[in-house]
Amino acid sequence: MRPPRRTTRPSRARTCATSSATRWADRGERAVVGGGIGGLSATLALRQAGVEVDLVEKDAEWSVHGVGIIQPGNALRALDRLGVAEECVAQGHPMTGMRSWTADGETLLRADEFPPAVEGLPPNNGITRRRLHDILVAAARKSGARIRTGVTTSAVEPGTGDVGFSDGTTGAYDLVVGADGLYSPLRARLFGVRAKFTGQVAWRYNLPRIPDLDRLWVYRGSRGTAGFVPLAPDLMYMLTIEKVPEGAPVRLPREGLAAEYRRRLAEYGGAVAEHRDLVRDDAEVVYRPVDNVLLPAPWHRGKVLLIGDAAHGTSPHCGQGGAQAIEDGVVLAEEIAGGAPVEQVLDAFMRRRFERCRTVVEGSERIGRWEQDHTLDIDPDAVAHAVTTAAMAPL
Ligand SMILES: Cc1cc2nc3c(=O)[nH]c(=O)nc-3n(C[C@H](O)[C@H](O)[C@H](O)COP(=O)(O)OP(=O)(O)OC[C@H]3O[C@@H](n4cnc5c(N)ncnc54)[C@H](O)[C@@H]3O)c2cc1C
Repeated sequence: MRPPRRTTRPSRARTCATSSATRWADRGERAVVGGGIGGLSATLALRQAGVEVDLVEKDAEWSVHGVGIIQPGNALRALDRLGVAEECVAQGHPMTGMRSWTADGETLLRADEFPPAVEGLPPNNGITRRRLHDILVAAARKSGARIRTGVTTSAVEPGTGDVGFSDGTTGAYDLVVGADGLYSPLRARLFGVRAKFTGQVAWRYNLPRIPDLDRLWVYRGSRGTAGFVPLAPDLMYMLTIEKVPEGAPVRLPREGLAAEYRRRLAEYGGAVAEHRDLVRDDAEVVYRPVDNVLLPAPWHRGKVLLIGDAAHGTSPHCGQGGAQAIEDGVVLAEEIAGGAPVEQVLDAFMRRRFERCRTVVEGSERIGRWEQDHTLDIDPDAVAHAVTTAAMAPL
């Protein structure tokens, strides 16, 4: 593995050129912009394929937002290819299926039929976002990727792959992978496409795990869904996704969030009612409007390819956003390892990724529409099952 190269050759790209710029990379190398689930997975997969990678993450603290994440079987399968699935399971909590009820506790579904995607791993896993992040960061550092935090791009030339960075350095890349998330500045700049509000908001709160919670539990309410996900032997999160009540603002101040969350849960019985009063700490409530985006194909301009939420940010109804971001990295590295020219790699990537991600984004959106309007002729559990089945198909 080569050490990072710092030369003082000037960049060839006009927009990236500064005569004293430090040069990070030359042709044959890849840049990854964004160190979230997708960017880290792509970095790991590319390093395993023997490719030099520069990863830049704009957040100097590399903070993690949100409480936990469901890792469905296809996420574990992709993480297994990256060599970190077992660690995720060891640091998370296995999930064997799903139960759904009406808000007042009448059983709707008991689904345990999904077998593990990888023998020896559970069908699903719940894990805190912090633990997943730490596992991916440790593996990416160990892989030899050149990682800089507190750094973003100042200029990107899709035609040449020349990149200027905010720390004053430049690089020239065969491929620039934009993994800068749902509100991707690269997508806005290169495609002019922005994420849109779905009409729903999401709530999350960590609680001690219910002892027999070993599946996803969901309760279908009049304006949305509430439920529980195990994250560790002693930890779970309570989730809620709902239509904003008539007349209520979408943006809420932090002060009073816990009381507001308790009020929004008032219609639910069962385990939700038993845990509602434990929501006490405003600072611990994770609340956010739910936006989504599906960038029309192709997701590349010249030598810049968008992956993860930057290309296909989904509402969380099928627990597939992170899974698809991880798969993107695995598929990209497989195509690059084949040795084809960049244009062919990008075409092959799109052929393998677009329909699969479209199924996830559109299926999740349909469930969200039904949650907002029960008169729609949609069975949310059947849609979730169909999306999961599609996502479990071989990569
Ligand atoms: C409420 C909720 C619940 C969810 N639950 C699940 C679930 O259970 N299972 C699941 O699989 N998925 C879930 N998701 C989706 C999942 O979180 C995302 O799909 C996943 O994080 C996408 O990864 P990403 O790397 O594309 O984007 P992100 O994780 O958002 O990472 C983007 C990274 O890029 C960095 N960045 C941004 N701009 C720049 C820039 N200009 N330069 C450099 N760096 C930049 C950011 O700081 C960030 O680190 C959920 C999402 C939400 C909102």
